[in-house]
Formats: sequence, structure tokens, C-alpha cells
Amino acid sequence: MNVPGISPISALSREEAHTIRYVLMDIDDTLTTDGKLRSESYAALWKLHESGLVVVPITGRPAGWCDLIAREWPVEGVVGENGAFVFWEGDGHRLATLTHPNAIPNSDPRLVALRDRALAKVPAARLSRDQFSRLYDVAIDFAEEEPVLPLSIAQQIKAIFEGGGAHAKISSIHVNAWMGEYDKVSMAIHYLTKRFGYDDLHDADSVMFVGDSPNDEPMFAHFPMACGVANLLEYRELFAHLPHFVTSRESGAGFSEFAQVLLERRSS
Ligand SMILES: [Mg+2]
Repeated sequence: MNVPGISPISALSREEAHTIRYVLMDIDDTLTTDGKLRSESYAALWKLHESGLVVVPITGRPAGWCDLIAREWPVEGVVGENGAFVFWEGDGHRLATLTHPNAIPNSDPRLVALRDRALAKVPAARLSRDQFSRLYDVAIDFAEEEPVLPLSIAQQIKAIFEGGGAHAKISSIHVNAWMGEYDKVSMAIHYLTKRFGYDDLHDADSVMFVGDSPNDEPMFAHFPMACGVANLLEYRELFAHLPHFVTSRESGAGFSEFAQVLLERRSS
């Protein structure tokens, strides 16, 4: 596929592949396909992990899910709720957590009022079913369950939150909104720096981020080696910053394609 300004992942060079130390990725519609974590992308995570790369999902999914991911998946941590915190499994199988200093609990009355306004003004929208396990953000479902609503509705919901002073991002399934000053990229950098000695001024080429949708844009804008899975092109008009690379296949199959190319280049 030819997209101006984006290279196919097959163009990744040996030198670039050998520079990568950290593989970060979004979860929904990047690792998953139609809402399922299929064997090919889960196997790809294991292969990346076993090759010695530092694997860290960066997601809008809630704290309750991140507890499971940190404990059960082959990862060195997981950034959740769009950057509010990171969970990882420390020594003795203890769950370690790092919360962004600017994170504000989702019981904040301003956020609660905006949630109620959004749900009243957009009757087809509904609170996400994973809201009960969230600590810092509110997630409005527009496409996880049916009826799937058009992106224009998601944009309307986002505008309501932003109009009230909240941050809001559109993923492939939810509109996530929160009050604190942080995002996926600021928390990812904070974690890699603190835990692995990453230096953002000199090491940005050692990070490969894979994502699919507008809530991944801060990562695409920051990391020069970012890669989109092919379904990202559906939202092309919503992006000011596209990733450097794109896969030819969509969602989990695209992630698996990415992992295969990366590991092949690193083994030669
Ligand atoms: Mg996604």
C-alpha cells in the first residue's frame, strides 16, 4: 500500500531494528481484532518478550484490566487509562504501581458533571461497561458494543468534555476523558526513564510504538520509530501526526506482521 509520508514496515532497516530496545503498543484494534486477543498477536508478544525486548502496552483500558495484564501477560509493565498510571509485576510477584503526579480521581465533581452532560446531550452514547474498574477517567462507549455510533458522535462527546476543561481522546471504541495534565506519552517516558534508565533526549530511536487510532497520536508525534496498523488509515483525516511506518494488515494481524519484520531484521 502506498501512503504519502508513511513507509511500509517492510522498509525497516537492520540498523533501525537493532537500535530498538523498547516495544510499546496500544491494545484495542492494535493487538486485538474485533475485540478479541487472537493467538497470533499474543504469540507475537511472547516472541518479542523472549527476544529480550522491553514490552509495554500503553492503553486507555482501566486499572482493573491493567492489574490482570501486568500479572499475566509477557510484559514489563502496562500504562493504563491513557497515562494515569503504570502497573508492573515486581519482585515476589508483587504488583508495583506508579501513578502520574497529575492524576485526579474520576470522582472529581467537574468530571462527573461533564459525564452527565455528555450522556444527556448525546442520548445514543452510554457509559463504557468497564467504567466500574476505572480510577481516573470516564469512558463513553460509542463502538465497543452495538449500536456502533459514527465518529462524528464521538467527536461531539469529546468536544463536550473539552469545553468543560477536561482532556478527551477518541480511541477506536471509547471517548476517554480526564481532568489531570498527562497523556500516554508523558507517562510512557516517565516510566521508561525511572525503571530502565531511558534518556528521551538521546534514546528516542530505541522506542518502537505500535497503535491504531487518534488517542495514540501523542505517541506517533513523539517517537520517530512509530508504526500504525493498517486500520489506522480509517481515521487519517483526524491525525495531525501520522506514524513513520504502517503495516499492510489490520489490527492483530498487523501487529503480528510488525513483530515478524522486527525480529527478522534483528536476527540478521
Ligand atoms: Mg486502539
